[in-house]
Amino acid sequence: MMKRKVGFKTLGCRLNQFETDALASKFSDLGYEVVAESKDTDVFIVNTCTVTNQSDQKSRYVVNNALNKGHNGMLVITGCMANHHKEKLEQKYPNAYVVSNDQKSAIPELVAAHFNKEIVPSNQYVGGVFNYAPAAETFHTRSMIKIQDGCDNFCTFCIIPKVRGRAVSRPVEDVLENIKQVIAFGYKEVVITGVNISRYEFEGLKFSGLLKQILDLPFDFRVRISSIEPDGFDEAFFKLCDHPKMTPHLHLCLQSASEPILLQMRRMYTYKSYMRIVERLRRMNPLFNITTDLIVGFPGETDQDFEVSLKALDELQFGHVHTFKYSRREDTRAARMDNAVNEKIKKERSEVLRSKALNSKMAFQQKLIGTTQKVLVETINGNWAEGYGEFYAPVKIACEKLIRNQFYNVRIKDMLINEGEPHLVGDLV
Ligand code: SF4
Repeated sequence: MMKRKVGFKTLGCRLNQFETDALASKFSDLGYEVVAESKDTDVFIVNTCTVTNQSDQKSRYVVNNALNKGHNGMLVITGCMANHHKEKLEQKYPNAYVVSNDQKSAIPELVAAHFNKEIVPSNQYVGGVFNYAPAAETFHTRSMIKIQDGCDNFCTFCIIPKVRGRAVSRPVEDVLENIKQVIAFGYKEVVITGVNISRYEFEGLKFSGLLKQILDLPFDFRVRISSIEPDGFDEAFFKLCDHPKMTPHLHLCLQSASEPILLQMRRMYTYKSYMRIVERLRRMNPLFNITTDLIVGFPGETDQDFEVSLKALDELQFGHVHTFKYSRREDTRAARMDNAVNEKIKKERSEVLRSKALNSKMAFQQKLIGTTQKVLVETINGNWAEGYGEFYAPVKIACEKLIRNQFYNVRIKDMLINEGEPHLVGDLV
C-alpha cells in the first residue's frame, strides 16, 4: 500500500521547530512519508508565527502558495497565528483545520480521524503543550528540547503571552528523559528551548538547577541555549556557562539599549545590567559569542535612543544581531501608545543597524581565525562540509570524506563572504 505523505512548513522560533520535529517524527513512526513541502502531499501542516506583521504575512503566503500550487489534500494551520487569528483563518480557509498551540500535539490523531471520516469535536483531543514524544526523525542536526512554554512578562510590544499563554515549565524528569532519548537516537547537540527559559521553575527547581542536571548527564554531547531573557541569572548559571559541555554562546535578547525605551517596553532589566552580564561572560571567555534581537522604531524612539542602540554594537561586539522593525500588534499595550515612528524612519534605521551589525558579525568571526573549533557537520555539498563550531559561527571544511552529524576539530584559516553573509573556512586537524 502507498504510504500517505505529510508535508511541513515551519515559521518562527525554535519552539515551533521542536514541535514540528516532534510531529514529523511521530508521523514517520505511524508510517507516513514526511517531506518539507506541500507538493503531492495528502496532508500539509503549516506551523505559523505571529510575532510581527511580517511573520503573519509570511505564514499566509505559505498557505496561499500551497493552495495556488494545487494542494488539494488536508490542510492544517497551527502555531501562534492560528491562536491569534483563528476566526479569520477559519473564514478565509473553510476547508482547513485551524489548530491552536495547546492542541498541536494532537494533530496526528486529528489527521487519523480525518482519513477515517470521523467527526471528533476539537476539545476531545488530549493535546497539551508538553505532550510530545522525543523526536528521532527530524528536519535538523541539532535536537531542540522544549523545557517551558508561555510567558508572564507582558512586554508592551509582545503578543506572545496572548498566543502561548501563561508560563508553564516541563517536569524535570521529562526533560532529562527527552535528552537521554535523543542522544540514544544519535544527536550530538541539544538546544534548550522555550518562550522564556530563564523563568523555568518546576517544584522549586530553577533554570540553573535544571541546566546542571542536563550537563551532568554522562554522555558525549553539547548543550546550546536558544533565546534567553537577560534577567533572573543566578551565580550558579554563570558557573555553568564555563562547563565543558556548554557552548560559549547565548542569544541574549536586548531589544533596545536606550534605558527610557527599555522602560516603555516594560523589559525586566536595564542596559547597564545587560552589559554586566556580557562583561562577566567575556571575562570567563573573551570570545564568548553574544547574539541578540534589537527592535527599531518602538513608539517614541528618538534619534538619540537609536544612536544609543547603535553604540551598543561597538560596546558589546555582537556576533549577530537580528533586527526587527517595530510591528504594531493589536491587543498589546504598545499598540495604544501614541508617538509612533513613521515607516520611512523605521526602514532607514533598520538599514543602518543591519549594515553595522554585519560589520560586527565579521569582526567577531575574524577573531576566530587561528583558533580550533569543534564543528558539528550539518550538511555536505559536493566537496564542502558545513556546520557550526561551539561559538555558533558557520564553518566550511573542504573535504570529501566527512560525515553528517559528527564532530570534527577544525583549524580556522579564513573568513569569506558568500551572498553578503560571512562564514569561516578551515582545515581538519
Ligand atoms: Fe514576549 Fe517579553 Fe515574554 Fe519575551 S519576555 S515572550 S518579549 S512578553
